Amino acid sequence: MSPLVLMGCRKGTWTFVSLIHRRLCAGRSLICPSALFSSASTVSPSLSFPPAHSQSLLTNRQIPVSLHPPAHLSSTRSLWHPTPCCSLMELKEVLQVLEQLAPLALAESWDNVGLLVEPSKSRPIKNILLTNDLTDVVMEEAEAMSCDLIISYHPPLFRPIKRLVQGDWKQRLAVRAVEAGMAIFSPHTSWDSVKGGVNDWLVGGLGRGQVSVLSQALCGASHCHKLEFTVRNTEELNSVMEELKACAGGASLQYSTSRADNGGIHVGVTCSDSVLPLSVHTLLPHTAASQSLNILKLEKPPLPGHGQGRLSVLDQPVTVATAIQKIKSHLGLNHLRLAIGWGKTLESSVCTVAVCAGSGASVLNGVKADLYITGEMSHHEVLDAAAKGTSVILSDHSNSERGFLTVFRERLAVRLPDTVTVAVSKADKDPLEVV
Ligand SMILES: [Zn+2]
Repeated sequence: MSPLVLMGCRKGTWTFVSLIHRRLCAGRSLICPSALFSSASTVSPSLSFPPAHSQSLLTNRQIPVSLHPPAHLSSTRSLWHPTPCCSLMELKEVLQVLEQLAPLALAESWDNVGLLVEPSKSRPIKNILLTNDLTDVVMEEAEAMSCDLIISYHPPLFRPIKRLVQGDWKQRLAVRAVEAGMAIFSPHTSWDSVKGGVNDWLVGGLGRGQVSVLSQALCGASHCHKLEFTVRNTEELNSVMEELKACAGGASLQYSTSRADNGGIHVGVTCSDSVLPLSVHTLLPHTAASQSLNILKLEKPPLPGHGQGRLSVLDQPVTVATAIQKIKSHLGLNHLRLAIGWGKTLESSVCTVAVCAGSGASVLNGVKADLYITGEMSHHEVLDAAAKGTSVILSDHSNSERGFLTVFRERLAVRLPDTVTVAVSKADKDPLEVV
């Protein structure tokens, strides 16, 4: 970076200001909740589930605010149905519905979500199978029902592969899907993160409460820097903006101008990570601009209600013993594993509960709560929590996730035509069982 730039750069300056508000409400950029759900509000004032036709208001970087359908609408197909009841659905149309229900942009950066197997020949999607994990027995089930699309919560293909051979069970399943013309889609952490998703469902097992997100999801705004500088006059402004536009590959620029105290023009231009160096380089020959240049790092706005893990302050505290019974019922399990917090008993009160579906230690670590609920934690992670007085309930990994499939099946089915059958796998189960 040039000395000129360093002189003008206010290190550590962050903005989270009206610019973000403008983005939230600009319609073109991110989300405008009132616009997005205005049609829904005619159905019910409390409605937060986006209607299927709201998709026209979204771009691939936009994320709906809330995806939790009111229970009383879970079977009211006619309220949500955007397509004729007997129309055939193509794969891409089903994928659009899935995107509305849980935008893939909500997934963790390390994850491998979305369409993982795409058949070469397109065919109408008539049978969809939901599963937590895609195993041999689930594939047999899919083949028997002439499945067109498998939605596997965990991605069956995760690490890069260099071959597709029968000796590897995941590669074998991918080949079977291709041979049968089946598509495979995985939502994984996008379902965990989305408001009304896996973690909200999990924490709901202990009853109502004030729920907050443990690891807040942020908006994936592409423009994360703002260049602020001054030019002498309109001619120089036009010249500079043309050059910056060329840096951005001809894309339109988001910028604002105002009259500067010295009679010049103050300019603010937002840009992405990738074009920042070239944009700064472009400004260097312009003396007034380069000497007045400030580079601001724009903080990504949080997406309320979305993110990993949940903390609930229960409206009605329960005992540890009652919490166990409620979670057994919620997850449909006969057995759970319990580590009682040090100094606590089964009759101790649980006012706050923190949950993370699957393997939750990294999200739950350090969270102050009376009870943790997750699928699995290591011995030492459990000891650390218990030593702080936090009781821990472990269900085994996928048992903390699988029950959401039934919830999701309802949400998906009401948004698809009658020509599509959505089923939850009967063969899918956690590999571990208590014997
Ligand atoms: Zn998992």
